[in-house]
Parts: sequence; structure tokens; C-alpha cells
Amino acid sequence: MSDLHTDVLVVGAGAVGCAVAAQLADRGLEVVLAGGRDPQTASRVAAGMVAPLSETALDPESRDAGPILDAAAAAWPDFAERFGLSLRRCGGLVLRGPDAAAGPEAPGESIALADARLLAPFLEVWQGDIRWLAGESAVDPAQALAALEARVLADGGRRVAGPVEWAADGAWRSAGGRIRPRRTVIAAGYASRGLPHGPAELSVLQPIRGQILQGAPGQVQAMAPFVRGPGAYVAPQADGSAMIGATMDAGVGDLAASDRDTRRLVSALSAFAPGLAAQHMTARVGVRATTPDALPLVGPSSSPGVLLATGLRRNGWLLAPLVAGMIADYLAGEDPGPHAQRLRPRRFERA
Ligand SMILES: Cc1cc2nc3c(=O)[nH]c(=O)nc-3n(C[C@H](O)[C@H](O)[C@H](O)COP(=O)(O)OP(=O)(O)OC[C@H]3O[C@@H](n4cnc5c(N)ncnc54)[C@H](O)[C@@H]3O)c2cc1C
Repeated sequence: MSDLHTDVLVVGAGAVGCAVAAQLADRGLEVVLAGGRDPQTASRVAAGMVAPLSETALDPESRDAGPILDAAAAAWPDFAERFGLSLRRCGGLVLRGPDAAAGPEAPGESIALADARLLAPFLEVWQGDIRWLAGESAVDPAQALAALEARVLADGGRRVAGPVEWAADGAWRSAGGRIRPRRTVIAAGYASRGLPHGPAELSVLQPIRGQILQGAPGQVQAMAPFVRGPGAYVAPQADGSAMIGATMDAGVGDLAASDRDTRRLVSALSAFAPGLAAQHMTARVGVRATTPDALPLVGPSSSPGVLLATGLRRNGWLLAPLVAGMIADYLAGEDPGPHAQRLRPRRFERA
């Protein structure tokens, strides 16, 4: 069997790999996109929120990343239109507890429970402050991945539907034969760390296990805003199912669902959506990849011809268009923009 030669091999077909491959194919590069469609990858388990404001407000480690998350959110409308992704402009509601006044300044505008219930009827009770963030949005991960893959193929790219492994001679092995790319983009999420012969920068990646619950289609309004309360959020999906998320277990890479996590999420949910909390849910688990500064690795690695696009932690969907644009700029020899320095894969090397 003859070797498959290509400009760029993208290793990983999650949110990041698919976004990168679609962007490169759109810019006229010859692309091979490799990776499986495992339902337990983080990108398929994710709630799909594109939520820079609520993320910086609720996640202490995302606070310093505000400008990067804002830039990523700003890239979404064009990206969605160009690649046929449906971006739901649903907005978000953030529920703040009685002690919230002591916390950081809250984003958005304060609204009454009755008004919040008009937007999200599954929100039944809440005593504290409710913030309306009109600009937040969401994507449906399965629809988005399918649309991006389809665009790669429509633009002349090729798809290898399974894992690839780096062979000692610099080629990549797949079940169908060898692939010989001029350049490679590693976008295999936390699995990037385990790739044999991978660049040294990947050794900083750590797992964060996330459990999420999914209910039945039609249980909530698909266009309702997501609601984020203490300990749980409700993210309506395109089919009207609710995703109730999500746990963050740092250092854990195990994919087994845990009853204890399910109970914890249901208990937090029952504080603001008891009706939803009483419904049957199925637990799903994915593993996010993080780095020591909680920012992704984006750009050239220490291995010649190998770029990294991984470590996107809990914001891979939000960040995917920004990261894809940066990788395309690097490969074209263009300026990758104002955030490139903070995201350099080699930033953890000893001076
Ligand atoms: C419960 C949960 C909820 C989340 N909610 C949100 C959210 O609302 N909004 C948001 O922005 N983010 C969310 N995230 C985070 C987001 O899912 C991740 O940041 C994002 O999916 C990372 O995408 P990725 O493509 O880097 O990695 P992954 O999704 O892990 O994909 C990696 C890909 O690489 C492939 N692969 C692995 N090894 C190989 C190999 N050897 N060869 C080829 N391919 C390989 C895998 O098959 C897979 O296709 C959530 C995550 C979890 C777990």
C-alpha cells in the first residue's frame, strides 16, 4: 500500500481537530483529519456553552483568560456562518447565592425570578440574585462536529476514521496505511499526552474528569438560555434535552460514571429546578486536558513541523474558532494575533 502524502495531518477529530481541519481546508491546504468518533470524547460529552462572561465570573482559573475568551466568542458568529454550524443565541442566566455580594463583580443585568422564568421555565425557585447575560450562546456538539467534518471533505480534505500513531521514521501509521504529512497539528485532547514520540511540551497536560447528566429530548425548550447555579448548570440542547453539568475532578482521567457525582449534581439542581431534578437522566463522562496555567497549548512545538492545539480545559468549544484561526495563521506564516504569546506551547520550558 502506498503512503498517503499531504500538506497537513490533523491528529484528533474533536472540537479542536475538526475546527482546525475545516479552517485549513477552507484556506486551500491539503488536509487529512484523523481520529475516531468515540461518544466519550470531551467534545461529544460537552454542554456546548459559548459563555465567556459566565466562565470568567464563575471559574477562578478562567478569570485571567477574559480577553482570550472574549476574542474566541467574537470569532464564533463568522465561524458558524462559514462552516454551517448552528449557533443558538440563547443567552445565559447566572444564579448567585446570598453570599454573592462578597464575591467578584457580577456580569450582566439583574432580573426578577418571574422574568427569568419567562426565558427558562424549568427554573422554578431562587432566592438570590439572578443575572441575565444576553450575549452568551451555545452550539450543539454533535451537529457542529458533523458540519465541520463535512466541510473538510467538501473542500477536498480526507478523513481517516481511527487513531494514528507516530512511527519512528516520522510517518504516522493508521489502520489504512502510512501518512506522510509535511506538517502535523496535534489536537488529540488529553490523549495527546500519550502519543509515542510526541513533543516534550505535551508532558505538562493533566486530566480533569467531567461528569454530566443528560435527560430526554423535549424536556426543556431548545432555545431557552442555559442556567448556571451553585454546583450545577442546565444547558438545553438542540433536541430539547437538558444537560446537567458538570463535575471537575482535577488529576482524574477515569471514564467510569459515578453514582456519587450523579447525586451531587441532582442535589445542586434541585435547589433551583426541582422538577427537572426529579426526571430520569443518563450520566456521561469526558476528560478535559489542562496545563499548569489553565491556558491551552497553541502553536509550534519543539519538534520541527509539529504544531499543538490542545489543553483547552473546560472551554474547548468556546475557543475552537480562535485556535483554528491561529493555527491557520502559523501555517501560512502570518501573524497569529495578540494572544499567541500567552498560548505558546514552549512557555513552560526552563529558561
Ligand atoms: C462534562 C463536560 C462539559 C463541557 N462543557 C463545555 C462547554 O459547555 N463549553 C465548552 O466550550 N467546553 C466544554 N467542555 C470542554 C470541551 O469539551 C473540551 O475543552 C473540548 O472538547 C476539547 O476538545 P479537543 O478536540 O481538544 O479534545 P477531545 O474532545 O478530547 O478530542 C480529542 C480527539 O482526539 C482523538 N484522538 C485521541 N488519540 C488519537 C490518536 N492517537 N490518533 C487520532 N486521534 C486521536 C479522539 O478520538 C478525539 O476525536 C466540557 C467538557 C466536559 C468533559
